[in-house]
Amino acid sequence: MKKIFNMTRSFYLIVLSVIVSFLLLLLLYGTIKLEEKIETKMVSISTIDVLAIVKNSATLIQNTLDKNQNLSEQILNDENLQNKIEKKLELLITPNIKYAYLLYKDSRGVFRFLADGASSKEKAFPNQKFDIETSQWLDIYTNKKPLSIEHKYLQELSISYLFPILNNKKDVELILVIDFSIKKIEEINEIITLMKNGIILIVSIVILFLFILIIQTIKYLNIKKSSLIDKLTNVYNRNYLHELQNNLNLNDYILSTLDIDFFKKINDTFGHDVGDKVLKEVANTILLSVRDKEDIVIRYGGEEFIILTKVKNNQHQSALNVIERILKIIEEHKFYYNEENFLKLTVSIGVNLFPSKSKNFMEAFKLADISLYEAKKKGRNNIQIYQKN
Ligand code: GH3
Ligand code: MG
Ligand code: MG
Repeated sequence: MKKIFNMTRSFYLIVLSVIVSFLLLLLLYGTIKLEEKIETKMVSISTIDVLAIVKNSATLIQNTLDKNQNLSEQILNDENLQNKIEKKLELLITPNIKYAYLLYKDSRGVFRFLADGASSKEKAFPNQKFDIETSQWLDIYTNKKPLSIEHKYLQELSISYLFPILNNKKDVELILVIDFSIKKIEEINEIITLMKNGIILIVSIVILFLFILIIQTIKYLNIKKSSLIDKLTNVYNRNYLHELQNNLNLNDYILSTLDIDFFKKINDTFGHDVGDKVLKEVANTILLSVRDKEDIVIRYGGEEFIILTKVKNNQHQSALNVIERILKIIEEHKFYYNEENFLKLTVSIGVNLFPSKSKNFMEAFKLADISLYEAKKKGRNNIQIYQKN
């Protein structure tokens, strides 16, 4: 059966909320990206001088060595040279640059110290093994270019900066390494955290609102639906008729009114409960006879129904066939009022084939009702079609 619920407003609200949530999530993503960008910028500003100084130191170290000989062996065999290099490395140490050291890789691929700029307490001795933290370190041997390895902590960014020193075969033989840290600018951190939290809060509120809205809409639709359905017979009631009148195109239907014949007698003979049962069964029989999703059945009064049967391709006869089928099926139906006994009943039907010719729904209904009255007069259990329009 046709359903008319005004869902448009709720639907737009839901769509709007989904779009707002999506935009906010996008904003959140943007903020996270912004944080990354600021961090990268901070790093590049803070490191630009450090990197230039390291490059100079590497060049100085390179110049003290004989390029035609093995570089690491030169340092290991010459204590004076090693001290000289260590002095240079010590100059690199600042509050931010904690370590500066020179490494080489032995024939077994193990990294070892050649010189260390750390204070005497922490200083590594020559040839002391050095464990690399990640295999990323090895990239310097293929790229032969300076390499930054970053470790991010909450308030600090720690960087190992590796500068290659090449031999005359243009192979990386020594690596000058400095470990330094950059404190994140706390204010920026705070602003970004605040922004992120704010957006997360708004997103949560919008999603909660959306959730409540959907629940409310479902509840509203359920209440609305139940207020439009007749409790006894499960067909639409008069409230539905009010809604329907403004939404219905009368051109699309033929309008029939159906009234049970001598229903009072059933009540009087078998009691009101049997009357209810029969009424329910009549409604159910009508529902089973009409075409699902197209035709509309409304309980208009006590035992009177309005049936709107859809006219397709201007074929009024097929819509009328449905009505004729209802009359026949009810006439043939056995209405059991207990396990063994049944009663028989008939209905009278008035049909308005052209309801659109009337001013409005109620006028069209009245004409069908006139025909119903005719049908009653003509002995009941028949269909009368309104002829004058
Ligand atoms: P006819 O239509 O053929 O002229 O005769 P009728 O006996 O059906 O006439 P009328 O329309 O006067 O009677 C309708 C009866 O339906 C009266 C009323 O008590 C009964 N009725 C209306 N609503 C209900 C209901 O919900 N349940 C029951 N059991 N009876 C109802
Ligand atoms: Mg009646
Ligand atoms: Mg009646």
